[in-house]
Amino acid sequence: MSLSALIQQQIKKHGPITVADYMQLALQHPDYGYYTRNDPLGAKGDFTTAPEISQIFGELIGAWMAMQWEIAGNSGMALVELGPGHGTLMADILRATRKIPDFHDAISVHMVETSPTLKQKQWSTLAGAHLSLHWHDGLDTVPDRPLLLVANEFFDALPIRQYVHTKKGWQERMITLDKEGKLAFTMVAAKPPAALKKLPVSENIYEYSEPSIQVMHMIGTRLKERGGAALIIDYGYTGGTCADTLQAVKAHSFHPVLEAPGAADLSAHVDFDALANAAVTKGAIRFPVAPQGRFLERLGADLRLKALCKDATVAQKSAMISGLERLTSPDAMGDLFKALCVAHPDHPHPDGF
Ligand code: SAH
Repeated sequence: MSLSALIQQQIKKHGPITVADYMQLALQHPDYGYYTRNDPLGAKGDFTTAPEISQIFGELIGAWMAMQWEIAGNSGMALVELGPGHGTLMADILRATRKIPDFHDAISVHMVETSPTLKQKQWSTLAGAHLSLHWHDGLDTVPDRPLLLVANEFFDALPIRQYVHTKKGWQERMITLDKEGKLAFTMVAAKPPAALKKLPVSENIYEYSEPSIQVMHMIGTRLKERGGAALIIDYGYTGGTCADTLQAVKAHSFHPVLEAPGAADLSAHVDFDALANAAVTKGAIRFPVAPQGRFLERLGADLRLKALCKDATVAQKSAMISGLERLTSPDAMGDLFKALCVAHPDHPHPDGF
């Protein structure tokens, strides 16, 4: 049976499902889920992420992490990555910080990952790191130590629900079956989460990711109680939006959202203010969100590029220049992708923001 057929059967029996239920099934179903079955990343996969495009991304984040560790008082800390993909970002972070005195001795490394395929891949990418590495299915089992956390393109994969404030009242966009029995969107009267109730009437869609809020509550609580900083990078928006950002991507192109669930990546743009506010309600502080391009430039991306180009061949040079350009240019990933830092209330304004 296909996942599509399974979902159709479930809707027939129990009625329409939320967009969040659909995302959860499509991405995480134990047998058919996209992340359970596939390796989504790279040229042969469906999409490519910043650490796979340029090593400069992970190297600058490594230097940034070490700076936050120094600010936090050189204490023992848990270095945590949420959704580490191939493990490339963590490998670059660890390589870039190898020579920082005492840093590696002070940290334990924790990878939060649900996909068995990707856990395996991360394990082999990081096999050369002479550090103790730990894997977890969720942040809740990561030891409660001062926190250095990074998440790149993690929150976009967490389920969202979609609400519309119509003249008839609040409605939720759900998934049902059309006359031919195919998956189709429908609107159902709904009670929205409290956070949305203050918003102006709009026939457009408001999105709300409960699982993202829960993760940010956990991060905020740990930062407040134990200290440290968290860096969240993703595609998304600030200032609240009212648009449908649910998207499916397959083989580096957009794909119909309700077609072949489990076979395409499914994601939504990240609501950075909602993430930041969730951490703030638990006592952390937030800094202004920075576009990815500006963030990397402020951390010295150009200097790092120059250093790497010194001993490079012409082909390597041109690949490095175009890789960094893709990460920083406003026409590519420089503006749509953004960086958010939340931290312990005494943490000073970090570089890059
Ligand atoms: N950060 C990586 C990979 C991004 S893809 C990079 O930048 O290359 C999204 C990652 O999050 C994958 O590793 C995926 O398996 C993981 N993931 C998705 N949903 C998750 C969940 N609910 N809990 C833990 N990991 C999850």
